Amino acid sequence: MMQLSSENMDIANIDTVIVDVPTFRTHKLANFKIQCRSYVIIKITLSNGAIGHGEASILGGPLWAEESVESIKSVIDVYLAPVLLGQCAANFENCALLMKSAATRNYSAKAGVESALFDAVGKALSMPATMFLGGVVRRSIPIIWVLASGDADQEIEEAKKKIALKQMNVFKIKFGFMKPEEDVARLRKIMAALPAGTKIIVDVNQVWSEATAIKWMPALTELGVSMVEQPLPASQPEALARIAKRVDIPILVDEGATTLQEIQQSGALGVGTVLSLKLVKSGGLLEMKRAAGVATANGMELYGGCLIESGIGAAAHLAVYSSLPALEWGTEQFGPLILENDLISSGIDYENFEVICPTGSGLGITIAEDYIRDYSRKGY
Ligand SMILES: [Mg+2]
Repeated sequence: MMQLSSENMDIANIDTVIVDVPTFRTHKLANFKIQCRSYVIIKITLSNGAIGHGEASILGGPLWAEESVESIKSVIDVYLAPVLLGQCAANFENCALLMKSAATRNYSAKAGVESALFDAVGKALSMPATMFLGGVVRRSIPIIWVLASGDADQEIEEAKKKIALKQMNVFKIKFGFMKPEEDVARLRKIMAALPAGTKIIVDVNQVWSEATAIKWMPALTELGVSMVEQPLPASQPEALARIAKRVDIPILVDEGATTLQEIQQSGALGVGTVLSLKLVKSGGLLEMKRAAGVATANGMELYGGCLIESGIGAAAHLAVYSSLPALEWGTEQFGPLILENDLISSGIDYENFEVICPTGSGLGITIAEDYIRDYSRKGY
């Protein structure tokens, strides 16, 4: 049995590398397209030799949030690594406080580092990272697939394929890159082509105004959409609360609530009935678990969000999601399936419309070192 001491758990080294991984198809969001996913992969070595990996993910440069892979790598190398080196990796809260003292926000960078700490300590102790989060409540989670090409015929074919493979039968449809009437017509066509009762979530990605939402929400209700994500800008919680009161459809709050205080305010205002959890919003696994607690305390249900992570980032999210007392809406941690090649060779499986959570030590994944090397950005 390995001795748990601050000496052998010291953080000896922190390496970062930017990788650019092509995706199978173009993924469109309201304000940009994705054909390649970029991540910062963090490798932490402890003084006892244990190695842990984490991933910092962001969508399309500093657009979804203020971070980019280039800024994340710099923040970790120049500001976070110096305060962490020599510290006991198992003191997760203390490491989080040290990172907070060195950098404000920069949630994706901090979450990637904390993921690597959980992985390294778990590997050193031969324990799954979920054990540090309260243990496992569920070993598999219903999984949601996102349709985001904007071409209804392609999306119908893609959805039917996912159902036939028994991978996913709940779909999120991205809105906002066409006029509302075109998006609704596309949605109507997709829903008519899929088996009756197929659960559909619509993600407007903040692009509607209150007036547009008043006009088009009834059509989504009439079509039987299960939930609408962030129809209004994150900066307009009062307007979103008015919309939430008008419609008989749950509202999923994503960009609108990041900090614990914003989540509390969202719940109190009645902005949304469901909160989307993401490491990029919380800045760490422990803080994401606290975010879930605050949401639940304010009457919100939980949705396991994703930012199209590779298997490394997905595993960190799943460690938290598998430990939550409730996760009413399942998860959209589908990232590994949209990449040309995943950055793990084992640990996460998709079957029977669920994602099977990793069970091994640390994050429970095997790193695909070759792909990380092949996809690494030269000159960084
Ligand atoms: Mg979203």
